[in-house]
Amino acid sequence: MRIRAQVAMVMNLDKCIGCHTCSVTCKQTWTNREGTEYVWFNNVETKPGIGYPKHYEDQERWKGGWKLDGKGRLVLRSGGRLARLGKIFANPDLPTIDDYYEPATFDKDILVSAPGGLTDTPVKKPYSKLTGEPMSIEWGANWEDSLGGGTMDQDPNLRGLADKVKFEFEKTFMFHLPRICEHCLNPACVSACPSGAMYKREEDGIVLVDQDRCRGWRMCVSACPYKKVYVNHATGKAEKCTFCFPRIEAGQPTICSETCVGRLRYLGILWYDEDAVLAAATVPEEELLDAQRGVFLDPFDPAVQQAAREAGHPEEWIEAAMASPVWKLISEYRIALPLHPEYRTLPMVWYVPPLSPVLDAAGAAGRDDTDADDIFHTIEDLRIPVEYLASLFTAGDTAVAGGVLMKLAAMRAYMRARTLDGTVADELLDGIGMTADQVEAMYRLLAIAKYDERYVIPAAHAKTAAALEDLGGCSLDGEGGPGMGGGPVPVILSTRRP
Ligand code: SF4
Ligand code: SF4
Repeated sequence: MRIRAQVAMVMNLDKCIGCHTCSVTCKQTWTNREGTEYVWFNNVETKPGIGYPKHYEDQERWKGGWKLDGKGRLVLRSGGRLARLGKIFANPDLPTIDDYYEPATFDKDILVSAPGGLTDTPVKKPYSKLTGEPMSIEWGANWEDSLGGGTMDQDPNLRGLADKVKFEFEKTFMFHLPRICEHCLNPACVSACPSGAMYKREEDGIVLVDQDRCRGWRMCVSACPYKKVYVNHATGKAEKCTFCFPRIEAGQPTICSETCVGRLRYLGILWYDEDAVLAAATVPEEELLDAQRGVFLDPFDPAVQQAAREAGHPEEWIEAAMASPVWKLISEYRIALPLHPEYRTLPMVWYVPPLSPVLDAAGAAGRDDTDADDIFHTIEDLRIPVEYLASLFTAGDTAVAGGVLMKLAAMRAYMRARTLDGTVADELLDGIGMTADQVEAMYRLLAIAKYDERYVIPAAHAKTAAALEDLGGCSLDGEGGPGMGGGPVPVILSTRRP
């Protein structure tokens, strides 16, 4: 066993109001520069929908992530080294600016400089931020928010279901999906990079780009199935979410977490066994979720704690792992799920799926969304939201997705009965196999957890901090803008190549 620490995130989707504060504060911090106008390290999508860039989940089209070859071996969907090199000068698997959107700005001066006496109100016209030419705005990073389900029939997660969703639920079924880089345990971007510029930090698992090594081959963009590596068109180099590593090193949450209006993001560390990663990524599709959970090590297990000590991790990290809200949501309560585990990258941003589509469906079917039995039956009977959520979070396993929704529905009904009627509904607990203490602790974490319960991040430990200092200069320095680890060599490349 090789024990490693990973800084990970969980988002509770029922609490996302789609305000985009996270996206805007991230942009102000990291991509408010020439060359990154179209780039959103954090974006928020409306689901069902085709996302940003368009259709990014369609791996038949973009060839992102990993797959098993005919002999059951893990291979990049974008092809082997030679196949990828053959596409260096004409790569058909790269999104164009039309797949993202053409960023625009407005001629605002006209509003204050227009001459008096006009018969019409002056109107500010949009201009392309890339070419400076007038343009008409036809798409954006979350255009679907305004379309009200207009692209539903193109969502790859709804293959075969789109008509049913439209007709049965009158388009009431929607929720928001905030996304950042997944800082995967088995990152396709790192394996695809021919220059060794993409790397996964040994001390906390954050995936970064070394700007000095990047040669702009863009293999990482094709290989990432979440399309979370971008090209800075001014420098020609790759950039991506940094998990706000300077803040994490200081024990602070990422900007998107700090500013999240819904307080739905949780940050903590997980211990995992690096030797188990490849095997977990190679199991048959129906075993992927359990295999990915199985890579994480129990922070309360004395043998794991001893292994962490022997590997040089300080006591502060061992304690932080025990208090990690991410461990609780993923492995203790088992209500957080990975986004598209079938991509086999072992993503490290997990999601508590939203109960709201089921409640919407219950309402549309005339069921009582305050009655636990009705909600349980809704989850069992009304397959469409469950099938959709399963397509996003469990590689299609509706039993697992339904089981998580049952827990959330039971928690809601249990706390309602206890708070409003003063009764304890034991039958609800029996139905989900949890104790009253567990349900109350889960409720507390999901509903009212304070700042230091949501973010449990040990500051970079002394040894690591010294190593980081040795890298020289401020870690925010670098050609082309802040961050991105410009200059120094990678701390370590801890991920295997095929
Ligand atoms: S989500 Fe992030 S770490 Fe995972 S493959 Fe994409 S860019 Fe790499
Ligand atoms: S700030 Fe929070 S609530 Fe608002 S869109 Fe982002 S994740 Fe959702």
